[in-house]
Amino acid sequence: MFKALVLDQEEKKTIAGIRQVDESELPEGDVLIDVDYSSLNYKDGLAITGKGRIVRQFPMVPGIDLTGRVLESSDDRYQVGDAVVLTGWGVGEGHWGGMAEKARLKADWLVPLPENLEGKQAMMIGTAGLTSMLCVQALIDAGVTPESGEVVVTGASGGVGSVAVTLLAQLGYQVAAVTGRSEVNGPLLKELGASRIIERSEFEEPARPLEKQLWAGAVDTVGSKVLTKVLAQMDYNGAVAACGLAGGFDLPTTVMPFILRNVRLQGVDSVSCPFEKRQQAWKKLTELLPASYYQQACREVSLEEVAECAEDITNGQITGRVVIKL
Ligand code: NDP
Repeated sequence: MFKALVLDQEEKKTIAGIRQVDESELPEGDVLIDVDYSSLNYKDGLAITGKGRIVRQFPMVPGIDLTGRVLESSDDRYQVGDAVVLTGWGVGEGHWGGMAEKARLKADWLVPLPENLEGKQAMMIGTAGLTSMLCVQALIDAGVTPESGEVVVTGASGGVGSVAVTLLAQLGYQVAAVTGRSEVNGPLLKELGASRIIERSEFEEPARPLEKQLWAGAVDTVGSKVLTKVLAQMDYNGAVAACGLAGGFDLPTTVMPFILRNVRLQGVDSVSCPFEKRQQAWKKLTELLPASYYQQACREVSLEEVAECAEDITNGQITGRVVIKL
């Protein structure tokens, strides 16, 4: 038996409770893992509170990220004792996830824990960090360099945004951080490397189809009218990496930025990102994130504290990353 956070559904309401689970209840998979840490993402928050339709069947153990050591493996790529990291692939949505002391998973979904990275650090990065790296890589691939001009990050004090600010600053970009919580999080964002802080309210004003050109690149975690504003303000040939919908999934824009300014809108998905790209992103994250990142923007909680944090993250009240010790 082992401890797990289990989501059940009663009268269409999601109920989260901690209970003892038998190993035989775990779903099928090639690798059994002794989970050390999981992490809390926006998506986990939606799943645990039931505010979003994330969970595809009940009962479900949430947790789209986990790290731990292999206890049993029927796949040649993984041996007992190997340290691994898992993010995405629908784990914590359609397959029991990381918020339990044990997990059984498909070997194809795993990535060996990079050298020089501890499990807890990997969860401080998690899906949010991996997504940030994929966004930054998308800007690099689109030809945005530190010399091209300033890069704007929206939802900057969130999990994805805070890592994006850090990574871009480490790579030498000038970063403008857009936040709705500048008084509380402005100093942290500056410590992470933002050269200036901009109020989110400025990005919520109605956008004209084209506005003054301000940004060579953008990482958008918010969507909706904030992304509309970003698009209208992109430089000629600028690129936007869009990964999130914290402000809404709509996008009330026009074709003008695309057809008159050659702007590129690149979608970014981390969930089904192929192994090679995923492994490279983890390697780069390990190289780029400074030791100070792990002290500044992360908080550790127990399984018992997760439900409360889940409520907070869906209300935009979490700063940086939350890791869960199993
Ligand atoms: P967080 O909740 O940690 O961060 C989101 C941030 O967005 C908040 O901190 C806040 O930043 C801002 N925000 C919150 N609510 C609103 C609002 N109503 N309007 C405008 N801004 C808002 O979430 P994550 O960083 O984990 O995820 C960010 C987004 O990216 C989510 O939508 C998530 O679903 C998505 N995502 C996508 C992935 C992919 O593979 N495509 C993977 C991971 C996440 P501030 O207070 O600074 O303004």
